[in-house]
Amino acid sequence: MDKLFSGQVALVTGGSRGIGQSIALSLALAGANIAILARNRERCQQVAAQIEQLGVKALPLSAEVADYAQVEQAVKQVIGQFGRLDILVNNAGITKDGLLVRMSKQNWDDVLAVNLSGTFNCIRCVARQMMKAKKGKILNITSVVGLTGNPGQANYTAAKAGIIGLTKTVALELAPRGITVNAIAPGFIDTDMTKDLPAEVKEQILGRIPLARFGTAEEVAKAAEFLLSPAADYITGQVLSVNGGMYM
Ligand code: NAP
Repeated sequence: MDKLFSGQVALVTGGSRGIGQSIALSLALAGANIAILARNRERCQQVAAQIEQLGVKALPLSAEVADYAQVEQAVKQVIGQFGRLDILVNNAGITKDGLLVRMSKQNWDDVLAVNLSGTFNCIRCVARQMMKAKKGKILNITSVVGLTGNPGQANYTAAKAGIIGLTKTVALELAPRGITVNAIAPGFIDTDMTKDLPAEVKEQILGRIPLARFGTAEEVAKAAEFLLSPAADYITGQVLSVNGGMYM
């Protein structure tokens, strides 16, 4: 029986853990073949094995999104293996928090390089293939703090706000080729990225969430699945918040 994404190929960056892993698994469950891109090779292989158990094909790719040549090579591998690329999810991200006056130039550069340039690199490397196919869906993962700002995260909020601008411009440029480009802005989601925050910081954040709980990676994946599905064919250049009402 045909599933929602049967026969399609998706590349999910940061698909080896957290939100990216949930998105990869939910697309796989819905029939897509998946390429997982992250730095840790073993972890990529583990998730690829998990995906293959769902009856679709998986390709683990160990690469650094901030390195254009590595991304280019990885995309070539995906197309070499599957012959097509229908979906790109730019989810890989890191934080290196600190107040502006104490933030090192290195920490600024690193966070911009992975979150923002990494997203550019992947879009740039898949765009021609999608333009030729005259179809494709690109989904970028930004953050609630890219909309609001957040003390201690000048680098991360600048990168995430940059992703929103990038999403809108690329949506405009690729719309004539039938390609949609959207973003999801998650609120506070329970993953490796947030697990080590001090208890009092978590309490403080919780107090700002009307739905009074943190979100799950699966809840972000549900929104991703919608934006990547035919149900969202007429939606482009949008930022969908999945944040429990934390910012409206
Ligand atoms: P996570 O659990 O820390 O996972 C991050 C993923 O990105 C891992 O697969 C990691 O694998 C990969 N990655 C990190 N740096 C990379 C690099 N330079 N090149 C390639 N892959 C890289 O994070 P998460 O919480 O799931 O977050 C996923 C996305 O959602 C991020 O963009 C994050 O900013 C965003 N987000 C998260 C939250 C939240 O509350 N958790 C809220 C808003 C937005 P390797 O380490 O092996 O490379």
